[in-house]
Amino acid sequence: MSLEKLANIIFPSVDKTPEYYIKKYPKRNLKEGAKVVRYAPSPTGFQHIGGVFAALVNERLASQSEGIFYLRIEDTDQKREVEGAIEDTIQTMHNFGMYFNEGMTGQETFKGEYGPYRQSQRAEIYKTFAKDLVAKGLAYPCFCTVEELTALREKQLAEKLTPGYYGKYAKYRNLTPEEAIAKIEAGEEYILRLKSPGNIENRVELYDLIKGHISFPENNQDIVIIKGDGLPTYHFAHAIDDSLMRTTHVIRGEEWLSSLPIHIQLFEMLGFKRPEYAHIPTIMKSDNGSKRKLSKRKDAEAAVSYYKEVGYPTVSVIEYLLNIINSTFEEWRAENPTADYHEFPVDLDKMSKSGALFDIVKLHDVSKNVICKMKADVVYDNYVAWAKEFDAEMYKLVTENEKMCKEIFNIDKDGPKPRKDYAKWDEVKEKIFYFFDELFYKEEVNQVELPKTLTLEAAKEVIKVYMNKYNVNSASQEEWFEDLKAIGLDLGYCAKRKDYKANPDQYKGMISDVAGAVRAAISHRSNTPDLYTIMNILGQDKVKERFQKFLEI
Ligand code: GLU
Repeated sequence: MSLEKLANIIFPSVDKTPEYYIKKYPKRNLKEGAKVVRYAPSPTGFQHIGGVFAALVNERLASQSEGIFYLRIEDTDQKREVEGAIEDTIQTMHNFGMYFNEGMTGQETFKGEYGPYRQSQRAEIYKTFAKDLVAKGLAYPCFCTVEELTALREKQLAEKLTPGYYGKYAKYRNLTPEEAIAKIEAGEEYILRLKSPGNIENRVELYDLIKGHISFPENNQDIVIIKGDGLPTYHFAHAIDDSLMRTTHVIRGEEWLSSLPIHIQLFEMLGFKRPEYAHIPTIMKSDNGSKRKLSKRKDAEAAVSYYKEVGYPTVSVIEYLLNIINSTFEEWRAENPTADYHEFPVDLDKMSKSGALFDIVKLHDVSKNVICKMKADVVYDNYVAWAKEFDAEMYKLVTENEKMCKEIFNIDKDGPKPRKDYAKWDEVKEKIFYFFDELFYKEEVNQVELPKTLTLEAAKEVIKVYMNKYNVNSASQEEWFEDLKAIGLDLGYCAKRKDYKANPDQYKGMISDVAGAVRAAISHRSNTPDLYTIMNILGQDKVKERFQKFLEI
């Protein structure tokens, strides 16, 4: 009776019971094996690539099992909250092709029958369950000040004891309800703690869907369940939310693994069946031979915004993450070169148990493969969308020259080995700049690349002759090359490598140097896609003009 009085004094406005909520959020009616999973970020405004990684695992498993993937916002730590972060999270997920079946749809709005999906709006629910625990003697108010807790910790550390609020160190765990009521009525501040029944001598066994069999000592700490601001801690909210939202699988970062003893205890004390757990390895980076966490402070690639800024297509990032999730993805991709990534079956069993290594070089590779398979029109659309936001000059040039750009993006697309020129959109400019007079003529003389064996004078000599003879408009590729070769031979260049090798002094160079001179004159680069194609795209007039200008260098 007095415990009930204590519960009522702590929670005078709570008029519901746990049963009310358990009934309100009934078991879901889904097909056998359907997984109910969630993405549960804190709205701190920073989107870490690890968040997309975790979300992707969840989303794929829900989708594959025809289950539910929902968005829950964990904003019980209101100090860390940033305005607009919820919209930003939703937008980011959409950009990565992930759509929620349920959950928050905006700052204040949600869809689904298991809401609200924002923890700060669920305070009444947590309080209802906390009140019930107090009434049952399973939770209690703790009046310790910060100073007292610090002193306790220091004492424990000095005596080489496990620090924390537990057992005989839990000063207020055995207060009688009357004593507690007297303190509350005297206006003393307090928080609520769980009265842990755990004993560290006992072990808890568990099967984690990624880590496999794990076991650890029971929790014996009287953890905080409701903080001074009336909101729950992560642990308490997790147990209640995932129970009431009928989550079947909690798939989250492995940083929560060490809290599992607490969570398991909470589910038991609240009388809930616990969900299945899968703890995802942390994304690591190799740094000077050792592995460390991908850091928000040190690594640009930790931020999701980075990929957008430099222009990795989101599909590339997803395919790369799928590679980390299941190393079998690479083989699957090779066997199914044109399949949609959604068809790849993600499997928790095949996930690496320890730190997933994030390798930007590998991402680069994956992305080149993704882009090289895109049709020229798609490359164009993607590039325009990127340039619109990040490169105004290129945006103007490509949109004013749409037809030409599509021809450029189509170079060597159809062959058995399509070109892999770009991994991200910020690399495009340097690769195609010479198609645009506005960029081409801006280059300094010292940026002109000549074949190593050719002097500028020799190159000019080639162009002087070639510019009056060549005709790219009417010639087939073979005719065009024969012309180039004839001019080269006339000028004393050699057509056969063997002959050249035998008597290098007899020749000015190889025919490839002649082509190199032409390439340098029209592109300023020594390495480009097929020269004939480039000249065709530029057209006779522009090519002539470039020859002219080259001679003036
Ligand atoms: N809000 C927690 C986090 O951002 C969620 C962990 C979980 O998925 O349960 O780390």
